[in-house]
Amino acid sequence: MPAEQGPINPSRKAPKKPTRDALGAYPTGYPAPVDRVIDELGALPGIGRRSAERMALYLLKSPAEKVDALARAIADLKRTVRNCRVCFNLTDTDLCGVCRDESRERHCVMVVEQPRDVLALETTGVYKGLYHVLLGRLSPLDGVGPGDLTIPAFIDRLRDSANNAGAVPIREVILGLNPTLEGDGTSMYLAEQLKRFKSLKLNRLARGLPTGTQLEHANKAILADAIQGRRAME
Ligand SMILES: [Zn+2]
Repeated sequence: MPAEQGPINPSRKAPKKPTRDALGAYPTGYPAPVDRVIDELGALPGIGRRSAERMALYLLKSPAEKVDALARAIADLKRTVRNCRVCFNLTDTDLCGVCRDESRERHCVMVVEQPRDVLALETTGVYKGLYHVLLGRLSPLDGVGPGDLTIPAFIDRLRDSANNAGAVPIREVILGLNPTLEGDGTSMYLAEQLKRFKSLKLNRLARGLPTGTQLEHANKAILADAIQGRRAME
């Protein structure tokens, strides 16, 4: 006869946290289409289940054309928005607005992590060059290597001016990654890779930015200082 599994038996596993189905409190009683919308909205960043439920009920009460417009806008997002062929910024055309702009200093390219960094830097109005968006940063612990970013495309852009906007050769690169551990690691890797381009001027943003800052959250004046005070990589 097996020993009784008492509450102090160490081999006894803690009961699994109940899922919403088992809990009894969660099954909403809504029709399945409502539950589906709540599930999808609730999976978005920053939206909890309660907010998702409020939104779903709001949509249910809204006029059909409003809901259709929202659904179309979301569908178009994936269908029409893509990465710029040259710099990987977001665009709904082949080249993004910055790359298309002939008044930009096309010999100068700032490397940033995400399209939202481009937006933040553009609000300063100080920087007149082009960008290269890596779409991330090196993160060995998460298995993100150079090939997972747009680094190969950037090297191609440097190697052959035909790959840069306006076919202008790149003479200056500014590393504009976030001053975080992974951002710094990515900068060091890039600096090493760019050594082979002997005549290239390599700068990084000035360290007015406190370590750990995300560029997108830095205030405009600090960002402008960081651009203007850029300095050579040691
Ligand atoms: Zn572009």
